[in-house]
This record gives sequence, structure tokens and C-alpha cells, in this order.
Amino acid sequence: MPKLPVNEPTKGLEITEPIIKTHDLDILIVGGGMGACGTAYEAVRWGDQQNPPLKIMLCDKAALERSGAVAQGLSAINTYLGDNTADDYVRMVRTDLMGIVREDLIFDVGRHVDDSVLLFEDWGLPIWIKDADGHNLNGAQAKAKGMSLRKGDKPVRSGRWQIMINGESYKCIVAEAAKNALGQDRIMERMFIVKLLLDANEPNRIAGAVGFSVRDSAVHVFRANAVMVGAGGAVNVFRPRSMGEGMGRAWYPVWNAGSTYAMCAQVGAEMTMMENRFVPARFKDGYGPVGAWFLLFKAKATNAQGEDYSVTNKNLLAPYEKRGYAKGNVIPTCLRNHMMIKEMREGRGPIYMDTKTALNKTFATLNEEQQKDLESEAWEDFLDMCVGQANLWACTDTMPEEKGSEIMPTEPYLLGSHSGCCGIWVSGPDEKWVPEEYKVRARNGKAYNRMTTVEGLFTCADGVGASGHKFSSGSHAEGRIAGKQMVRWCVDHRDFQPALRQTPEELRDDIFKPYHTWLEGKDASTDPTVNPNYINPKNFMMRLIKHTDEYGGGVATYYTTSKAMLDIAERQMMMLEEDSKKLCARDLHELLRAWENYHRLWTVRLHLQHIKFREETRYPGFYYRADKPGLDDEHWKCFVNSRYDPENGVTTFFKKPYIQIIPD
Ligand code: AMP
Repeated sequence: MPKLPVNEPTKGLEITEPIIKTHDLDILIVGGGMGACGTAYEAVRWGDQQNPPLKIMLCDKAALERSGAVAQGLSAINTYLGDNTADDYVRMVRTDLMGIVREDLIFDVGRHVDDSVLLFEDWGLPIWIKDADGHNLNGAQAKAKGMSLRKGDKPVRSGRWQIMINGESYKCIVAEAAKNALGQDRIMERMFIVKLLLDANEPNRIAGAVGFSVRDSAVHVFRANAVMVGAGGAVNVFRPRSMGEGMGRAWYPVWNAGSTYAMCAQVGAEMTMMENRFVPARFKDGYGPVGAWFLLFKAKATNAQGEDYSVTNKNLLAPYEKRGYAKGNVIPTCLRNHMMIKEMREGRGPIYMDTKTALNKTFATLNEEQQKDLESEAWEDFLDMCVGQANLWACTDTMPEEKGSEIMPTEPYLLGSHSGCCGIWVSGPDEKWVPEEYKVRARNGKAYNRMTTVEGLFTCADGVGASGHKFSSGSHAEGRIAGKQMVRWCVDHRDFQPALRQTPEELRDDIFKPYHTWLEGKDASTDPTVNPNYINPKNFMMRLIKHTDEYGGGVATYYTTSKAMLDIAERQMMMLEEDSKKLCARDLHELLRAWENYHRLWTVRLHLQHIKFREETRYPGFYYRADKPGLDDEHWKCFVNSRYDPENGVTTFFKKPYIQIIPD
């Protein structure tokens, strides 16, 4: 390794000229979260039965046990239908996401999701159960009594769709099952996929992917018949509220860099609803979850004067209720934010989660031992899924039964699995009830469920657009749906011989360019982070998130933007694209960061372009088009889709009709 100048300290693993390794596969799975684990489980189940068995490989940039959004654990599974119908699930998701969703995809998740939850329990996940007297048994107590969902016992519901679990190790359990299915030889961890590769002979046809190991200097070229991209959503595409040493904290995982959206868009996959974003209201600074507090503990959020602003601001919902939105008892998540943001804008903040009233009200109905249980549950909710929030409570001497805690809308995230629905346009199931407009027909005339508009390219979970509220369980179920279809694709295309457009050496040089940029320019450094010849990945990200925050509706403007502001943001993104060619990498870690930030740029630029195209404010509380306030159903009750043409580099934006399948 070349000697580092004294003013260029580096912390990551050594980088050197890489070797090239090539792999021939039937199925390549990119990602390691709930979706990818579901895909692996199901693809192996069907792929191993083929003769010869399909060659499958899963590449995860981290380690399967703790990758994806469920890494830190969860205290609830937010999608379990139980006695609910899939039709009602569609109605809830449609209402929450302001009416424009793919009902075929949501119904499909709804009818399959419980099967994944039962598998989780079989694999060891402790699920809370109601005993015969109606008391709550936590997962361990239920196991001790031999009670389970699988046996038909009732779960403890925190809400209509949510069930309680002891879930600190949720992801480890699901990953273990995927690993058992695949076996160690079919998993490559610490492998970052940089881009997808189109076929040299067949148009609009996936042929593989290329990436590198973040542990040694090796470029890996994969040729494959079918590729799954399930690499999560996008975080740190807007300036986060946390800063300095705290910047590792975000609500969604900081390692979700938009790779799913960027890589699929770059090969020409049609994208959908990329204007959508998710702004969760969270406990301030720790980004701790609120669901259990609102749903299980029945806590209320108040303004600084102690008023329940969802009551005092009820009139804000009227224009939406009038048009059929905000139906029944489902208030769309963005509109809940909308009410909160009004309070903050008008100086009635901060906003508090009234933990004191919630706990004391429930305490009044419980004996001492039960009170202790409830109190520890309040702490465990954080310990299960957001340890930092528990630390914050401890270090600020917070007693939740004595005082409330501030909650705050976070910076925007891009995702398709929680109360957000940006992503990629995919085929629905090839069944009679699914409108033809929702099927993506391949050249052989067949529709493969969850295949994108690029032949052989599949996605799931955060990747699938216009169908939110899958959460952990729905993402796994959707991964399984896609995994089975990928096997069907491979069986139908047995004769396909992937042919890459670039040589492995050309691909290697592209991917290691930031290293060469650094090598050539490093001697001009006067400061570890500043150099006239290159930009380091961290500074690149800082520039990106400053632009999006100020012009693209980040926290700086209370999520407000306009065409004039978006025009500026777009120009800045174009300049950043130019500068991305000067990204540098001093070690393998920075090479990863360089490419992650390139993916961020592509993803958030598309997000802002979609917001500009949709001339209305579809999601007040998530973002505001100040120049186009309010809903315009006449012109915009439709999907906004886009497609980047990899042949000429032009992105086009267009409308697609929304088709209601499930009646009101
Ligand atoms: P969270 O903790 O916000 O990720 O949410 C967990 C679950 O609770 C999800 O199913 C949310 O949709 C739901 N949820 C969170 N807050 C509320 C609320 N105020 N009202 C209804 N559902 C909520």
C-alpha cells in the first residue's frame, strides 16, 4: 500500500489494486434484510428441487444477523392480520397513503403475511399470547405455558394490525433460517454491489451485477439469470436533526443508502411514487419508537400547553375527510404530522408524549407487580429496538411516569415498507382479478409477480413502490413471493446465457476509480479532508444533504418547497453528479462510502424531480409544495412514474392510472 502522507490518517481497511473474481449464477440476491432473507428462504426451497438445482448466491454488504431495518430488534410485528381480512388491510393502507396505492400488491402481502409470522415463531421468536383469563403473557411466559400462535392461541395486540413480541433478536432469528436454507457457501457477506449489469444481446434484460468486498481488495463480477435487489430504503439523503458525534443516529438504518432505487433506476427500471417520503414522529434525539406508546399504552401527544393538538386541530382534517380521505378511525400518518407541524410553526411547541398520564392511568388498574411489569415494558420497548433512546432517558434522569418526553418529526426518509411508498414499479400477481395495467408482461407473454420492467430484475420490501405498511413481516412475505417467482423465471429461461457489455477489467477500473483519484491527487492535501483534486465521501454527503435540506423540503423549511426551490436543488444535484467523478477513497471503507453517496445522489434527485412533476401537495405533513397547496384529485389521483433510459441518459416522467380494486 502506498505510504500515507502524515496529514491523511485513515481508519478503514487497506486498499490495494484489486483482483477480479467472476461468478456464474442463476439467482443473485442483493441485500440481507427481511426481504432478502425471505427471498433466500423461498428461492432455495424451490430452486433446490430443480434438475440441476439452481445456483443461488446472496450478497450482503454487512452481516446477515444484524443487517436491514430490523437490525436492532423490534418490540412488535406491525403487520399480522389474524382475524382481519386482506380487503380491510388494503383499505387501511390506502387510507394511510392518501389513496394512491397498488391494491393488488397490498392484497397479495395481506393474504401471505401471517404465514411468515408463524414461521418466525417456529424458528424461535417469542410472541406474546393472551391467556384464557385475558391476561397478557410475554413471549417467554407463553412459551413456558406451551402456548403459541401456531396452536391457535390469540396474540396480544397493541393495535388492530400489530402484535407484541420479545424481539431484540428478531433479525438474528430470521437470518438464521435464511442461512440454514442457503448454507455458508451461498452467502457472501461484506460484499457491496455497486451496479447492475444489462445483457449485451437482449434489450432491457438483466445479466448480472458487479461489486467489491469491503474486507479485501477484490472486485466480484456476477453473471445471473435473475437478480433480486432488496437493499432497503434511503437514509441521510436529507440533513438529519442529529449532528456531530450523534450523526450515526437516525430513525431508519444509516446504512440504507438508496442503493435499491439508484441501481434499479440506472438500468432503466420504471420507478413509481418516488415523490413519496416518510417523516416519522419520534422521541427527540434518540429517535425512539412511538407506536407502542400510542397504541399499547394509549398515550396522547400534546403541545407545550398540554393540549391534545389532534383535538384542537381537528378542523385541519376536514378538507381531506370531505374528499373521502382520513376515513373511519384511520388518520393518515402524514395528516397526523400535519397537525403537529402546525403547532410547532405557530410556537406552541415543543410537542410531548404524555407518558405520565398514560402510565398513571394504567397503573390505577394494576397491582404493584403488574405496575412494575408495565414500567419495565416501557423501557424494554426502547431496549428492544432503539437502545440509544433508553440511554438518553437514563442520562437525562427521565422517569416516564413523572414527566413526558419531547417528540419531533424527523428528517425525511425514502422507503416503501413503513408509512411510505416510494419505489419501483413491479408486476402484480398473474391472476384474473389483477388489472392488465398492473401486470408487467415479459417477452414470453408471462407476468412474473414482483418483477420490475427490466426482464429478470426483481425487487421486494422497500424496493416495491406504491405499497407501504408491509413492515418487517410483510417485507419477508414479499421476499418469499418474489423468490418463488425468480425460480419460475429461471426455469422458463433455462437457455439464457448472460453476456456482459463491459469486460471485467473495465468494470474493475470503474469501481476502483475513487482509489485511483486519491492516489493521483493525495500529495496536494493540506488538510485530511480537503484537497483541490478530489472530494471525500463525507464532504460529498454534507453538500448533498445541505442542498436537499434547504431547497428540497427538509427540516430547515418545515418540509416546505416549491418549483423555484426545486429548480435550484436540481441544478445543484446535476453539479454534484459532475463532482461525483472526483470522489476519492483512501481505504476500502471509503470506497464503500463513495459509492453509497453516489446512490444517495441518484435516489434523492429522483425524489425531488417527482415532487416537481406532481403539481399538488399529496402528503401534507411529509412535504408541502408551497406553490401548489392542497390536493388536486382531478389531475393527480394517479401514480407518478419515471424511467431513466440507459441508452441516452434521459429521464422521463409520466402519469399512470390508479385503479381501485377493493371497494370502499
Ligand atoms: P412506529 O412505532 O411509529 O414505527 O409504529 C408502529 C406501528 O404503530 C405502526 O403500525 C404504525 O402505523 C402505528 N402507529 C404509530 N403511531 C400511531 C398513531 N398515533 N395512531 C395509530 N397508529 C400508529
